[in-house]
Amino acid sequence: MARIHVDDLRKEYSSGGEAVVAVEAFDVTVDDGEFLVLVGPSGCGKTTTLRCVAGLEDVTDGRIRFGDRDVTDRRARNRDVAMVFQNYALYPHMNVRENMGFGLKLSTDMPAAEIDDRVRATAEMMGIEDLLDDKPKELSGGQQQRVALGRAIVREPAVFLMDEPLSNLDAKLRSEMRTELQELQHDLGVTTVYVTHDQTEAMAMGDRIAVMNDGTLQQVGDPEEVYRSPANEFVADFIGSPSINLFTAEAEGSTLRGPGGFAYELDDPAVAAGYDRLRVGVRPEDVELVEVGGNEATVTVTEHMGNENVLYLEMGGEELTARIDSAVRPSPDETVRFDFDGSALYLFDPSTGEAVKTKTDELGVSVTETR
Ligand code: ADP
Ligand code: MG
Repeated sequence: MARIHVDDLRKEYSSGGEAVVAVEAFDVTVDDGEFLVLVGPSGCGKTTTLRCVAGLEDVTDGRIRFGDRDVTDRRARNRDVAMVFQNYALYPHMNVRENMGFGLKLSTDMPAAEIDDRVRATAEMMGIEDLLDDKPKELSGGQQQRVALGRAIVREPAVFLMDEPLSNLDAKLRSEMRTELQELQHDLGVTTVYVTHDQTEAMAMGDRIAVMNDGTLQQVGDPEEVYRSPANEFVADFIGSPSINLFTAEAEGSTLRGPGGFAYELDDPAVAAGYDRLRVGVRPEDVELVEVGGNEATVTVTEHMGNENVLYLEMGGEELTARIDSAVRPSPDETVRFDFDGSALYLFDPSTGEAVKTKTDELGVSVTETR
């Protein structure tokens, strides 16, 4: 077991003679036994970061340490890591038993009988003991992915690195495997870095989430923290589904004035001090329909989800989303009034995107400050 330290990682590729910076100034510590999810949009540098941790890429700058061991200059096979990829790449000519045992056979001098025992025990834990004699082509996608995970687990590595391992599976299987993988990781207690572009998966699985954009780390925190106290507008927008509502408003004393006549009185005008304009954020579940007060918007679409309705609204050319009670069903083109509590208001600096105000509890304390 090991703690992973990534210190000031930088990775450049050269592409047609030009340097492409894939990752820069990346710092993170993954605690012993922790499940850290690295999440961000496609091309933001997740795979590159993971491959540097694995030893499959040379770093341009920075250090990688596992516990006290500096592994930066060690090759992948000497780092005691096991990787699972999106395309599981099982050996087609080997059966499940051989696929799972191959890594141990190759990298250790473990006797064949012991390898066989370990493979059997792992297969039982993964519920694939009946498949040991099957070839990959006889297996379903879910079974193949289970074998790929089993092949990683059987090696009892210090560190698991997983790159979008569930993204080839259909939605139902993916959510089943999510739960299973979490349980397994918890039982095994192996330090894990899990990469995904899917924020729902990140929120569901991570002990902590590291959000990346454009080669840099935006924020690391537990799911509640990144949701309630995003470091910046990018994180606020990326985390949460449906996404947070965001629009620009003028700050005039204690009043925010936005599109379509939007006006909002700040509980604490001091938060807007020094700003002429601000980016305003409010999460769909915090938008309430009201009889009086609040602001006006026009209904465009209502989606009936059964447990709730998702309401799409238009306000001065901005689209807003509200999650409301399933019994409330306004019709298209209807004008409604909406409001939200001051504790639910997010504000961002319009030029830097940095958070100016995030969610607060009923005492007005932000979640990060309470920790
Ligand atoms: P992600 O996994 O988040 O989708 P990647 O780490 O694969 O992102 O890529 C990050 C950036 O680095 C992208 O701009 C990508 O085009 C670039 N990149 C990745 N691998 C290489 C490579 N081998 N050569 C050149 N550029 C690369
Ligand atoms: Mg990738």
